[in-house]
Amino acid sequence: MNDAGKPAMGLDEWEDFLKERYPEPASAAEPFRATNPDKKKEEFRNYEANARPSVREFYRLNHHHQSYGFVQEKRKEFLSLNRRQMSIWEALEYLNTLVDDSDPDTDLSQLDHLLQTAEQIRNDGHPRWFIAAGLIHDLGKILCLYGEPQWAVVGDTFPVGCAWSDKIVFHEFFQDNPDRNESKYQEKLGVYGQNCGLDAVCMSWGHDEYLYNVVKDYLPEEALYMIRYHSFYPAHRDGEYDYLMKDHDREMFKWVRAFNPYDLYTKSHQRPDLKKLRPFYDDLIGEYFPPTIRW
Ligand code: FE
Ligand code: FE
Repeated sequence: MNDAGKPAMGLDEWEDFLKERYPEPASAAEPFRATNPDKKKEEFRNYEANARPSVREFYRLNHHHQSYGFVQEKRKEFLSLNRRQMSIWEALEYLNTLVDDSDPDTDLSQLDHLLQTAEQIRNDGHPRWFIAAGLIHDLGKILCLYGEPQWAVVGDTFPVGCAWSDKIVFHEFFQDNPDRNESKYQEKLGVYGQNCGLDAVCMSWGHDEYLYNVVKDYLPEEALYMIRYHSFYPAHRDGEYDYLMKDHDREMFKWVRAFNPYDLYTKSHQRPDLKKLRPFYDDLIGEYFPPTIRW
């Protein structure tokens, strides 16, 4: 239970809810196009109606608090990266101390999810940087271990400082967001220019943006897009916010979409054999990262 006496959501519950909303991988074969907009809105309403109370409460808090000002504060608080110096393995082990009491259904740890994601990418013959992205993509969830509330770590991400897409799930909860009263932030483009490029756009705060900043000097751009935007479901699954993107973002989003099925659909109860896999991943990490990095 959280302060308000409401049920706390398990970290995996958000991902279960994503899978209910997106039961199938997007077709990689077809060029990207958003699905029928009206149908989608209708479906979202059903997911909202059927969501567990804990998931609903999670989105209520997220949409209430993730304002432009809140994001600026969190960026200042965390992006100086002066909390820890750790290797990637130390970070993986640290993240793995995060236990999800509230979700008795899953016996998989955070490390299991990362290894399963990376292993599936590897089995499909993708480049090594793609596997590396899979291995680390959720390391930003160590924000939870710094004491950050779940609604400021996970959840679908969206741009702040401009109008919220009406395809963002639980849109009605933006009613209580302080940006509701800033007319500039309610305009379609808000503080941004048309097709200014996503790098200039401030996203709601969470594990994607934090980890991107930790690893941005070490991985190829395609991998960095995967890490930075993997929770940006309104764009990579619903085709929203195209007016903030440059052609280069659109090009790179092919990789974000290529990554999504590995994140969302590779959970299995078969626990990866860490001992057997360790040498491969030690090499892989050594290829991209120095012995310690700043978190
Ligand atoms: Fe994630
Ligand atoms: Fe993930």
